[in-house]
Amino acid sequence: MRNIIYFDNNATTQPLPEVIEAVDWAMREGYANPSSVHQFGQSVRHRVELAREQVAGLIGAKAKEVVFTSCGTESINSAVRGVLAAHPKRRKIVTTAVEHSAMHKLSEQLIKEGYEVVTVGVDSSGALDIDALAAAVDDATAVVSVMWANNETGVLFDVARVAKMTSERGVPLHLDAVQAAGKVAIDVGALPVDLLSISGHKFHGPKGVGALYLRRRTRWQPMFYGGGQEREMRAGTENVPGVIGMGVAAQAAARRVADGCAQVGQLRDVFERRVLASVSYAKVIGGDEPRVPNTTNIAFESLEAEAILIVLSEQGICASAGSACSSGSLEPSHVLKAMGVEEKWAHGAIRFSFSHFNSMEEVDRVAGQLPELLGRLAALSR
Ligand code: PLP
Repeated sequence: MRNIIYFDNNATTQPLPEVIEAVDWAMREGYANPSSVHQFGQSVRHRVELAREQVAGLIGAKAKEVVFTSCGTESINSAVRGVLAAHPKRRKIVTTAVEHSAMHKLSEQLIKEGYEVVTVGVDSSGALDIDALAAAVDDATAVVSVMWANNETGVLFDVARVAKMTSERGVPLHLDAVQAAGKVAIDVGALPVDLLSISGHKFHGPKGVGALYLRRRTRWQPMFYGGGQEREMRAGTENVPGVIGMGVAAQAAARRVADGCAQVGQLRDVFERRVLASVSYAKVIGGDEPRVPNTTNIAFESLEAEAILIVLSEQGICASAGSACSSGSLEPSHVLKAMGVEEKWAHGAIRFSFSHFNSMEEVDRVAGQLPELLGRLAALSR
């Protein structure tokens, strides 16, 4: 695609050139099965184990604690179901009202299966009510599952406080770190978290590969049975190109995080300031809370997000809505609803998410065009 301005990096990211090279190598040359005993297979095994170390490096884990999966969604499902299976007497899950659908829909399914799910709310800034979370945890609780960074607003939860509480109570904690990895420092060595999910395509790796961090001695059961891959924690021949690509991406992401992601943060902050200064009916959702540096959710009063996205798309500008289209009507997302965002704002909420592939020229162009594009829509809707 030519002349695309891609401000939709929370949906997925552009793979790094070195990731593409690694995937290409795995497809063309490293095609042996890493479980094969011949030297060819073992050379591929070596690359898979290197990728495990690289992914472990991004989150401060030991390589043995990293299980490769097919995506963030699988990691989350496998984390929660695996802990439930290992604690059959505990029938309660504590989570939040703003989780990604991977956890949100899983919770709905678990309720149908007879589990009790307690969903803790957030305030109007998107901050988690950690006292309510603590109050919900009891002896029947099998697992607490909380996201680290919200995909729609970028709001970061105080996971250190959550982890302190769960570890004091002796309840397993799973963190959905899919939107945090590669954007903020993660160190499971310093944080008492038992399970943590990440996904390769959110930090410039390939799609269709994720990882589950499983702290040693966590009581957990695998979801798949079959071959002995991933030390019997995730049966099935590895997605070798994906795994190797994710390893390369993780190493690069760790370097960017160590540098503080300053470049991306500057793009987001300048964009936000310029839009707020030039569009009188705009406000940032979740802007008062600590956020990942790349995300802003800007609501445009009394406009429809879908119309805004179409107008932006005509200009080659990619962003996302904070709303999901359900049965013909645009429903504000469960995240914005949980934050109590008024309908007139929630319907016009757009998520702009940046990466280091973006430039200040792109920010200038989009921020410069927005007032006129939105003005036309506003005139139409009046
Ligand atoms: N969790 C969060 C917070 C996400 O943003 C996403 C993807 O958007 C997922 C989980 C699911 O990840 P995947 O697309 O790899 O299944």
